[in-house]
Amino acid sequence: MAAIEMKNIVKKYGDGFPAVNDVSIDIADGEFVILVGPSGCGKSTLLRMIVGLEDITSGELIIGGTKVNDLAPRERNLAMVFQNYALYPHLSVYENIAFPLRLAKASDEEVDQKVREASKTLELDEHLERKPGNLSGGQRQRVAMGRAIVRDAQAFLFDEPLSNLDAKLRGQMRTEIARLQKRLGITTVYVTHDQTEAMTLGDRVAVLKRGVLQQLATPRELYEQPVNLFVAGFIGSPPMNFLPATVDGTSVEMPFGTVEIPQEKADLVADHAGKTLIAGIRPEYFDDASVLDDAKLSSGSTFRATVEFTEWLGSEAFAYLPFEAPEAVQKQLEQLEKDLDGESLRTQIVVSLDAASTVAAGDEAEIWVDTAHLHIFDPETGDNLT
Ligand code: ATP
Repeated sequence: MAAIEMKNIVKKYGDGFPAVNDVSIDIADGEFVILVGPSGCGKSTLLRMIVGLEDITSGELIIGGTKVNDLAPRERNLAMVFQNYALYPHLSVYENIAFPLRLAKASDEEVDQKVREASKTLELDEHLERKPGNLSGGQRQRVAMGRAIVRDAQAFLFDEPLSNLDAKLRGQMRTEIARLQKRLGITTVYVTHDQTEAMTLGDRVAVLKRGVLQQLATPRELYEQPVNLFVAGFIGSPPMNFLPATVDGTSVEMPFGTVEIPQEKADLVADHAGKTLIAGIRPEYFDDASVLDDAKLSSGSTFRATVEFTEWLGSEAFAYLPFEAPEAVQKQLEQLEKDLDGESLRTQIVVSLDAASTVAAGDEAEIWVDTAHLHIFDPETGDNLT
């Protein structure tokens, strides 16, 4: 096991735009770090540089205290688990797991001991004679991990391992990978474009946009304190609501009326008074005011709005409140939508409704908003000012 340090890593293919641009990430021994971002953000390139399948244009890569920039993949002793698992269909589970040991010319005794140990950990011991074709997707994934385990690799690297699976199996495998990683305590780097996978698996998550690291933080920090519009829009489902906002002291004027924000937030945006900014509030910080108790109501502001339609999903329900945005904000949201790879950010507020709410399409409802959880973004830089 080993720590992985990336220092100012750059990757240029030919003389084009850098696919990875000055990325520095320190991964602790045993830590589970996710590289996430939309298609083309450079996450696979970064992983391929760690494993040694791609040259590093500049910067330093240190694994277990040793600079490995110029070491061949084999010499880095890392175990890569690919999307398609790369299993040999004609070999049994036993021989698939044993493969790296056979390559290293280990004795039959050592092979047997290591394969049996790994298969026990992975609960594959009853399937050792089967061929990969007769296994479930989840079992195949475990065989691929078994092959990594017997090598005593310094770290596990995963490149979108679950993207070929259906939603149910993906959920199961996610839990399984998280459980195994914790049990084995092996340093793990995992690439995905799926923010749910990133949020549920990682000790920390690195969000990338066009080759540049935007934020490296725990899932909770990313959710609660995104550094910019891009991270705020990428993390969370349904996504954060973005509204045009003008600040005057502690008053914030938004499409449905003016709300009051806490003084400490007002201080942070005082320099931007009078400008059109972008407020960001997650759906759960809005609600139908008519069903809330006084304590909750007094913790925020309320405004009236017409409900366009509602959506009931059993465990949760949403109300949609459309609004018009000024052109500058509209433009910024369209750009953000492109950056997020088509994630739809319509000019509407999505309200996560309390289970007791009965608001329906066409209702003029009183809506509560928790202004302590309001973020304010600079539309020019995208930075979170609060
Ligand atoms: P995806 O989720 O679509 O795989 P990604 O975030 O993993 O995307 P990369 O595959 O790392 O992104 O690609 C990053 C950028 O580098 C993209 O613009 C891509 O077109 C470019 N790129 C990747 N591989 C090469 C290559 N071999 N030659 C030239 N450009 C490349």
